[in-house]
Amino acid sequence: MYAYWGKILRVNLTDGSIKEEHFDEKFAKKWLGTRGFGIYYLLKEMDPTVDPLSPENKMIFATGPLTGTTAPTGGRYMVITKSPLTGYIAMANSGGFFGAELKFAGWDAIIVEGASDHPVYLYINDESVELRDASHLWGKTSTETEEALKEEIGDKRIRVALIGPAGENLVRFAAIMNDEHRAAGRGGVGAVMGSKKLKAIVVRGHKRVEVADRAKFTSVVKEKTDKLRNDPTAGGGLPKYGTAVLVNIINQNGLYPTRNFQYSQFEYAEEQSGEAMAAKYLVRNKPCYACPIGCGRVNRLPTLGITEGPEYESIWALGAHNGINDLASIIEANHLADEYGMDTISLGGTLATAMELYEKGLLKQEDLGEDAPPFRWGNTEVLHYYIEKIAKREGFGDKLAEGGYRLAEMYNGVEYFMGVKKQELPAYDPRGAEGHGLGYATNNRGGCHIKQYMISPEILGYPYKMDPHDISDEKVKMVITFQDLTALIDAAGLCVFTTFGLGADDYRDMLNAALGWDLSTEEYMKIGERIWNAERLFNLRAGLDPLKEDTLPKRLLEEPVKNGPNKGHVVRLHLMLPRYYKFRGWTEDGKIPEEKLKELGLEGL
Ligand code: SF4
Repeated sequence: MYAYWGKILRVNLTDGSIKEEHFDEKFAKKWLGTRGFGIYYLLKEMDPTVDPLSPENKMIFATGPLTGTTAPTGGRYMVITKSPLTGYIAMANSGGFFGAELKFAGWDAIIVEGASDHPVYLYINDESVELRDASHLWGKTSTETEEALKEEIGDKRIRVALIGPAGENLVRFAAIMNDEHRAAGRGGVGAVMGSKKLKAIVVRGHKRVEVADRAKFTSVVKEKTDKLRNDPTAGGGLPKYGTAVLVNIINQNGLYPTRNFQYSQFEYAEEQSGEAMAAKYLVRNKPCYACPIGCGRVNRLPTLGITEGPEYESIWALGAHNGINDLASIIEANHLADEYGMDTISLGGTLATAMELYEKGLLKQEDLGEDAPPFRWGNTEVLHYYIEKIAKREGFGDKLAEGGYRLAEMYNGVEYFMGVKKQELPAYDPRGAEGHGLGYATNNRGGCHIKQYMISPEILGYPYKMDPHDISDEKVKMVITFQDLTALIDAAGLCVFTTFGLGADDYRDMLNAALGWDLSTEEYMKIGERIWNAERLFNLRAGLDPLKEDTLPKRLLEEPVKNGPNKGHVVRLHLMLPRYYKFRGWTEDGKIPEEKLKELGLEGL
């Protein structure tokens, strides 16, 4: 087998055992990598109804076949587990260098099971793997932990995936951080790591990933890299302004959710755009491993010095979503969220829920404590004060640490929670891109944009421009194509931003050259479809009620947009969802029939 080692590391934290397991090409052809491997092991080995924060939950850290190769953006890894935020599947993806290093160490994936009774870290140095005590690291932030580990191990070139205090304290939206500012952010995967008392995974590898035909692979990679460099977004807007290049574009198009989706344009968007950040704070851009795009930002703030980020979602979640117009405070808040290790989208969404609960009088100052800053739109104090309180679960921070849905439930305001399947929504108002709304509603991991980025066709024109308010069969099928394609790109070990410039045939070319396979584009897309359905199967077994939960917040379905170019629009989900189920080959109530499971080779799992 090329581009794989065929080796999986199994670590049981309850009894401390460490084992090496193997997989063959047949398995690789069926599941490809990352999400594919993860969902296979979860379905095969775990009861989907287990408590996500119990030792019975498993975590899979998996690479794809292109992780660690020279394929553009080939540095991704994925964490797959049951989410403590949604109760359904979590598959959180991250760039940086950790994924590639894991591959260089000779491992395709790590299965973590059980739970330790004291803090530990896993140290992988090629074949040598050991669990070490991490009691002295417990309570440390991301940077402190990484620095302490480098010092202790005596090797500055180690790569580390870790949790900060938020993960330790089981904040339901805690992230796993790697390379200090890269995050496997969504779904609370950091809390699962915290529940297992696993502070960090440290990796150092010295091998090179072998591909089937080096000359051919090099030429295919060059061709695809050139395509990305020549694309105006992947080779222009993203390197120049980072993902924050979207702030002005999305705001002008009237999809920039403001004050908890009460409005769809933010009056101060320009002041916190990628362009503004570049003018005021940008030092340079920073690519992940093997990435020709380089959307990462390195900024310098007089108060803070050098930091990384924020990207588009974080600027929005900590800014417009909360009515906040202070770019410096947003950058600082993003830095704090990275240090404590939490998902900025869910963090911002939870704060915005609190803002609206406060505005509506459901949440009162006496609930917060006399000295705590009030949840008034635009109050920057909220950011700095509560991020630390959430991470430490102190005072009202303990309630915020439960996420927006549970908070809204506590204060009788569930209608003010803007999320899907208990996960906070990202930075696009779907009333201005209805296919994107269908994508949110049907996403296996709840409120998420990145597993079907319908903003591409509906707003940006990739692979071609579609009317954002068209809800034809073509649009519904495009949502399905984007979901399956994203599963494929993730499983390959690449970044979804390559879709600005590359199409399904390009991924096929790179995979075939690396693996020595001869699969068609359709066969690769089938792998994506299999992964999507397997994740759905997990959710159904975990208790998903499709007709109740494949939905959007009432506001997006019933309250027409108040301002901007989409004024008057809602998402007509009820007209799209039945066709989505039909085109997926599912039943009218959103279940997967036996014949579909058979067609995808999922029977018996
Ligand atoms: S496009 Fe951005 S997030 Fe994706 S691999 Fe490159 S630098 Fe990382």
